[in-house]
Amino acid sequence: TNRADVTYFGAGPALLPTEVLENASQALLNYDNTGLGIAEHSHRSQLAANILNEAKADLGGGSGGFFWLAPKEEDADQDKLVAELSKAIDNELKLDYLVTGGWSLKAYQEAGRLLGTEHVNIAADARTINDGKFGRIPEGGTWKLSKDAAFVYYCDNETVDGVESPKFPEALVPKNDGTGPIVVADMSSNILSRKVPVKNFSLVFFGAQKNLGSTGVTVVIIKKSLLPPNCPQPSPSLMRKLGLPIPPVILSYETIAKNNSLYNTLSIFDVYIAGQVLKKLLKTFQDKADGQEAVANKKATLIYEALEAHPDIYRIVPDKSVRSRMNICFRVTKNGETE
Ligand code: PLP
Repeated sequence: TNRADVTYFGAGPALLPTEVLENASQALLNYDNTGLGIAEHSHRSQLAANILNEAKADLGGGSGGFFWLAPKEEDADQDKLVAELSKAIDNELKLDYLVTGGWSLKAYQEAGRLLGTEHVNIAADARTINDGKFGRIPEGGTWKLSKDAAFVYYCDNETVDGVESPKFPEALVPKNDGTGPIVVADMSSNILSRKVPVKNFSLVFFGAQKNLGSTGVTVVIIKKSLLPPNCPQPSPSLMRKLGLPIPPVILSYETIAKNNSLYNTLSIFDVYIAGQVLKKLLKTFQDKADGQEAVANKKATLIYEALEAHPDIYRIVPDKSVRSRMNICFRVTKNGETE
């Protein structure tokens, strides 16, 4: 079978541009005439640093938007830290989750497993307004956000359930004075498909394998105010004393940020692929995210319209108000009956 003859709708790993893969196959054999393949070069070489830094720069907008934040003039204050962490012991530490599909449900369950279920709060459960199934997003006014949550977590596009937040949730928008909840979002399957109001988020992450590149790397955009020295990290002995789980050092954002993502062996090949995809996107869309958004909307509209034209055969899973432009979930019915 010829690659050019294939039409493929897989959610992830998703199809990569042929031109990128052709260049990558050459790069695997001999990168930039160095006689060594890209996967054979040290991740600490200048060559690898260039690939990484260029990819970060080309991702631009997003990370740029975050890193303009000026560091706060606060020094590490261990007393404040102990007071904060003590909340955990007093059961006051709460993480809020908007459970709108399989991926946010998994995140909520994992947080409960690691921290204890008493510390995780489902601020909204989409299943309660949709007969026990995912497919809608509860109105922001009904969310039960904790008074002082450590963060509010949501998944911007629920890949499996085909549910996408139409825009940044109104209930989480920072106030005029800049205060508001610390918002953490999983954008694995809709990143680069529309403009993102980055300043509203404290942390955004996305696996590369959907919209950015190949499987194997995850991008994290984090506010500098959440990293040391602005945000002191508790020492392992303090964590132990408080009975809180101690994360492995390679999963610590502090470690990753301090080492420009090179504390352990980063797969530079995967970063290279993501970098090439970004370059191609920048070349294709002069208006960047707007151009990509227009294409994404056009593709999604085409497919939804085709499905809607045959309600006797197809049933679209999510409610129209939250239909994903990325993952189109429908069931094939038999004589109008589901499955
Ligand atoms: N979050 C979303 C929205 C996803 O679609 C996926 C799918 O792969 C994941 C998280 C999990 O990513 P990974 O398999 O890289 O851990």
